[in-house]
Amino acid sequence: MTALRSAAVTDVGRRRRNNQDMVLADEPLFAVADGMGGHAGGEVASVTAVEALRASFASSPSADGLEQAVVDANQAVCERGADQPQLRHMGTTMTAVALVEDRDGEVFVVANVGDSRAYLLRDGELTQLTEDHSVPQELFRAGQLTEAEAAVDPRRNQLTRVLGVPGVEPDVQTLIPYRGDRLLLCSDGLYNEVDDGDIASVLRRVPEPDAAARQLVDMANDRGGADNISVVIVDVVDDDGRAEAASAALGQEAPANSTHTGLLSTQERNAQLRAIAAEPDLGERSRPLPPAPPPVQVDLPTRRITVGAVLFVFTLVLILAGAGAAIAWYARASYYVGLDEGRVTIFKGRPGGLLWFRPTVEERTALTSGAVLPARVDDLEAGKPEPSLAEARRYVERIREEAARVAPPPAPPDAESESPPPAPPGATSSTTGPSTAPPATAPPTTASVR
Ligand code: MG
Repeated sequence: MTALRSAAVTDVGRRRRNNQDMVLADEPLFAVADGMGGHAGGEVASVTAVEALRASFASSPSADGLEQAVVDANQAVCERGADQPQLRHMGTTMTAVALVEDRDGEVFVVANVGDSRAYLLRDGELTQLTEDHSVPQELFRAGQLTEAEAAVDPRRNQLTRVLGVPGVEPDVQTLIPYRGDRLLLCSDGLYNEVDDGDIASVLRRVPEPDAAARQLVDMANDRGGADNISVVIVDVVDDDGRAEAASAALGQEAPANSTHTGLLSTQERNAQLRAIAAEPDLGERSRPLPPAPPPVQVDLPTRRITVGAVLFVFTLVLILAGAGAAIAWYARASYYVGLDEGRVTIFKGRPGGLLWFRPTVEERTALTSGAVLPARVDDLEAGKPEPSLAEARRYVERIREEAARVAPPPAPPDAESESPPPAPPGATSSTTGPSTAPPATAPPTTASVR
């Protein structure tokens, strides 16, 4: 049977006026909760969550039971917030570990919501077991921040998952415990001040869980203590009286008489927990706090201009420019013959224009609409397309000749002469006009046109 030895320490730190963290070391269940919400909300949230976790897990001490206990803790925080308007925006992280019996034997179950962490020291190597549910860490996992950038990102206090939001579920994992394993649960007040290397060094060197926990808290305070600091250490020892030897294998003796003012022992914190839980009105104990950022959903902004993005935009611009050039060419590459102020005119462009490309006057002729055959006037008004300027000119010439063929002949010198007027030259050789010219008095509309 697996035997454990543990310690839990929480401290207000050097800057905060109250401690909104909560720790639990009640074998086989261990937890750290880091409350938030201002105006006592954070303290109420963490205490409420840990109490609900403990009660729920006690009724079902199993792997599924721990997951359900975190869900129940969330429900408890939500209900407490709904009851008291001043607590409406409170929330808390929760990182919990329980030793439970599984099908294959005893296992550690680790469940977490938020950015409080669980680490494992095994064979001298420190491994972070949990993933932070914070904006920078989500961005890091999405590849938008480096690990170093995420560690110092000013949004690291913005959490993407906390208890106090309906429907939140924990990440859950299991771990087979081996003799000599050392688990560390902590709030961000520790790891934001003490890097993983220094944490690992303390965990290796200080065998007693309580002494190691206190030394880690002292280090965080020595480096600023900007936040509440909570540490829970769980050692895996054997069950036949070799516990001391197992812990001693972790390192050398701790420095004697490690002290720190302001530390609360587990017992003290549990007494505080009971006092707070029994007190319905928390207004007196609350102090104005810096406004805690509400939980946010991760919004992954486009924060970097990648080479791929530049190539995409460049390609898009090329495609659009090519399409624009093709339209411009189509719109401007042809001609048509139309009317402008009553005169036959050659335009460059498409009749009526295309998109924003308007036709322009290329040549204005002396030929008026009244001097061409009426059948041509409709074509001219609609615009008679021609593939080139030369073709357009030939068309103008053609309709000029047509009109001349059907136009009344010049009056003979002698109006009484009966002789018919001479046929216009070329009238019978035209390939596009009528084979014979109609009488001068025939209506022009009878002329055949191409
Ligand atoms: Mg904190």
